[in-house]
Amino acid sequence: MITALMYYGGYGYGLGRYGFYWDPTYILIIIGAVITLMASARVKTTFHKYSRYNTHNGLTGEMAARRILDSQGLYDVRVEPIRGELTDHYDPRTKVVRLSEPVFHRSSIAAVGVAAHECGHAVQHAKGYVPLQIRSALVPVANFGAKFSWLMIIAGVLLSWNQTILDLGILFFAAAVLFQIVTLPVEINASRRAVAILNNSGMVYEDEVSGVRKVLKAAALTYVAGAASSVLQLLRLVMLFGGRNRD
Ligand SMILES: [Zn+2]
Repeated sequence: MITALMYYGGYGYGLGRYGFYWDPTYILIIIGAVITLMASARVKTTFHKYSRYNTHNGLTGEMAARRILDSQGLYDVRVEPIRGELTDHYDPRTKVVRLSEPVFHRSSIAAVGVAAHECGHAVQHAKGYVPLQIRSALVPVANFGAKFSWLMIIAGVLLSWNQTILDLGILFFAAAVLFQIVTLPVEINASRRAVAILNNSGMVYEDEVSGVRKVLKAAALTYVAGAASSVLQLLRLVMLFGGRNRD
């Protein structure tokens, strides 16, 4: 799951006429955008490269997912196809691993890697992995924070720089950033479980596991870049609208 928060930047647009657009802190947004773009370019190249390598035994994403889940005793977790690209996810409420159609049907290293990663989330859920529970609990908070932080900040500026409202806006944004940070161990751990299961099951060959590892590492980097970029945005908000400089 890739959050839209990655591109959640630039209060500068809305507040341009107040003179914030050209402030030097905008460099933080640019740095964030560059690392995010680099990570996303890298995951695309890696994914496409390993989409061309077929698994030796013709294992598709769906078959790999089913075998992994069964090997962990998760017979009640279903595997279903879903439209789109990179729409793969595990839904803990319905206990369904949903794989994007290319991943579901294809028998490539990349497909097996993504499928295994999503099964990693199902295993986390079944074993009560704590960071996953924290992350799930943070979802509404993060959504609320992402939705209302900019409104609060604009309101704070318009209400002749109301510091309390501005601080609330920053706090809301921080909640969304916290969510992205908690997401990191969850994602990395899911990939680690995926690689370990593939390795131990003998489902794929040794050289295939190394391809899977590369695909999942590139995917993890997009989460790291997204979180880093959000931290930079938060830093910028604090520099622009935090109380200390003004009082
Ligand atoms: Zn994941």
